[in-house]
Amino acid sequence: MRISDEQLALVNGRIKALIEADGFYGKKLKEKGISGVSSAEEFEALPFSEKSDLRDAYPLGLMTAPEEDIVRIHSSSGTTGLPVIIPYTAKDVDDWATMFTRCYETAGITNKDRIQITPGYGLWTAGIGFQAGAEKLGAMAIPMGPGNTEKQLQMMQDLGSTVICATSSYALLLAEEIQKRGIKDKIKLKKGVIGSERWGEKMRKRISEELGIELYDIYGLTEIYGPGIGVNCKYNSGMHYWDDFIYIEIIDPNTGKILPDGEIGEIVITTLVKEGAPLIRYRTHDLSRIIPGTCECGRSYPRLDVIMGRTDDMMKIKGVNVFPAQIEEILREFPALSSEYQIRISHVDGKDTMRIYVETTGDVDFIKLADEIAGAVKSKIGFTPIVKVVEVGVLPRSEKKTKRVIDERYE
Ligand code: ZN
Repeated sequence: MRISDEQLALVNGRIKALIEADGFYGKKLKEKGISGVSSAEEFEALPFSEKSDLRDAYPLGLMTAPEEDIVRIHSSSGTTGLPVIIPYTAKDVDDWATMFTRCYETAGITNKDRIQITPGYGLWTAGIGFQAGAEKLGAMAIPMGPGNTEKQLQMMQDLGSTVICATSSYALLLAEEIQKRGIKDKIKLKKGVIGSERWGEKMRKRISEELGIELYDIYGLTEIYGPGIGVNCKYNSGMHYWDDFIYIEIIDPNTGKILPDGEIGEIVITTLVKEGAPLIRYRTHDLSRIIPGTCECGRSYPRLDVIMGRTDDMMKIKGVNVFPAQIEEILREFPALSSEYQIRISHVDGKDTMRIYVETTGDVDFIKLADEIAGAVKSKIGFTPIVKVVEVGVLPRSEKKTKRVIDERYE
């Protein structure tokens, strides 16, 4: 979906502010002699922003509005080196709450709901985002923060929480605790709003079934407000995102080329109205795709598919970009297979080779199945892997995250 004239006008407002503030992006624009964009092509030629740019601006180099207008900062986790500090104006804080309210409404949550919030509060954008949205909706926010399962379950029963906001792993832990204690009939939960970490369909099913609730995925990142820039609706066919606040492109992470709707690549976000720290063409390194067409719910907001991993997960085989999620998607179409698989990439005789190990029960023709899978990969991704079918239980399993992709080329 190409950028619209309305969105272009908003981008031009942000370009002006960035040039005036003379931060890293304003300088980039000045160097290139750009003072605005008048077409989609010109927008698509604008330079990207990277996390390293944001880190280099530490502590307050991203501040684009006058100091007296900044009312809050948040910080994103830096696994290495300096964190990123994002300044917010009062309008940014309010816009974020508006987007979050929209997320709750899209999930069918109303001002009669009681929303138990377990993500953390503080420098992170998590807890406070969930709370501001709940308050703006007029619902009852129950700001628990993380941990203390005993107290979480007590409040959940005494206050009759109807919505739980959590990471998928914490939601699962709560579900298991509730089952273990046999208190399911005292729990009034109807919906769960789950942060957008990558999680499997199986985990989703377990949480949903054990708690008897509907689950909604919420997307966001601190650099772009925080959680709340998108959520799935009840048709669960991707996350609607708010294109009056943000513009999303999907690019090939290697070449930077924009990909057509439907293709998997890196999510790049432009903030359209952010004042404290606007970002133009920010590379998130998250992988997903824009889902073409309109949703059954009738909303006109575009949709982003689930987050399929990080660009670091990307593999290049015989010159073709491949993501583990693409292989997973293909394997899911074969009902005879178990959920376990392993991908091994090696370099033999000057050629890259991908071997895919899959499991099935003994009552199918292994060779025929292997051929069919190899054919499906060839037709959808463009190269032929070697497929090995083994019996269920042969592939390694672990309690923690199982390593499914092994790249022997660099070992
Ligand atoms: Zn929808």
